[in-house]
Amino acid sequence: MDERTLITTYFARPQDRRADVILGIGDDAALLRPEPGFDLVVATDSIAEGTHFPAGIAAAAVGHRCLAVNLSDVAAMSAEPRWFSLALSLPNADPAWVGGFATGLFSLADRHGVVLIGGDTVRGPLGATVTVLGRVKAERAVRRTGARPGDGIWVTGNPGDAVAGRLLLAEGTEGSDAAALRQRFLYPEPRVQEGRALAGIASAMLDVSDGLADDLGKLLAASGVGAELDAEQLPLSPELRRLRGSEAVECALTGGDDYELCFTLSPADEAHLREVSAQWPAGVARIGTVVPGSGARWRLRGQPLAVPDTTYRHF
Ligand code: ADP
Ligand code: MG
Repeated sequence: MDERTLITTYFARPQDRRADVILGIGDDAALLRPEPGFDLVVATDSIAEGTHFPAGIAAAAVGHRCLAVNLSDVAAMSAEPRWFSLALSLPNADPAWVGGFATGLFSLADRHGVVLIGGDTVRGPLGATVTVLGRVKAERAVRRTGARPGDGIWVTGNPGDAVAGRLLLAEGTEGSDAAALRQRFLYPEPRVQEGRALAGIASAMLDVSDGLADDLGKLLAASGVGAELDAEQLPLSPELRRLRGSEAVECALTGGDDYELCFTLSPADEAHLREVSAQWPAGVARIGTVVPGSGARWRLRGQPLAVPDTTYRHF
């Protein structure tokens, strides 16, 4: 299958014509028309086989992941994703594989109303780079820098599930708990609805990709504050508790691949949060408080908890 056929067969879709896409796939570049009164938000993340996902997982999971990780970044800015581009590197043009990839990609894209507006297709090691463009009302984006002493620290969903799922996938563990955790690793659900609802409520926010403790550290450093946190308040899933027992807390703090949102919030806005979060499927939990100073102090059952620095570093 040649490059042009691959693009027209799997990626150029009539349903991706939309009023804010003046020109999509097919020319030298795309032409977009954002509405006035919004800031444009741009996020790019790459995934590579062997680094971000193991070889041999379903093509649909790879298609889902390359978009999900970028939707998660846009969500963490409190923005609405609108468009994306895809640079795909393939060792060969296997129609079954590319078809599966496109199915995973577009089922997530369609749920979030993002349209593919261009990209590139090359031969090389398996990997994909996606750029998502989105919009947020002018001045409403939530940055990492706004956390203030006294703010609560919150996290969505069940951190730790994804890393457990990745390990269980490698081990080939059977059973319904293992299947649920594997799903959390293979098909992370970007918290787009949640992030958008937090515009004007959260004081600072980021998405958790490298592990909750490490990513929270980035938010605290960017805001110039410290934090006190209680590991017993971590929203651990029943599946994670059952399969990982005493390691569950460490999974949640250092695992990564969660694609949950971690944010801070003034206590005055907690009632507002309860209102907007009532319908969130993944839930949200308060795990600590911002304090003056620097760094995070974690406690477990009243005792100081040392969090190992196990974050993956590319170089
Ligand atoms: P050029 O040679 O001008 O860079 P290409 O042949 O790479 O153009 O791409 C032709 C058109 O197809 C362009 O509009 C490009 O954005 C689009 N395109 C290429 N690969 C992809 C892809 N994987 N997904 C979506 N659009 C793609
Ligand atoms: Mg060209």
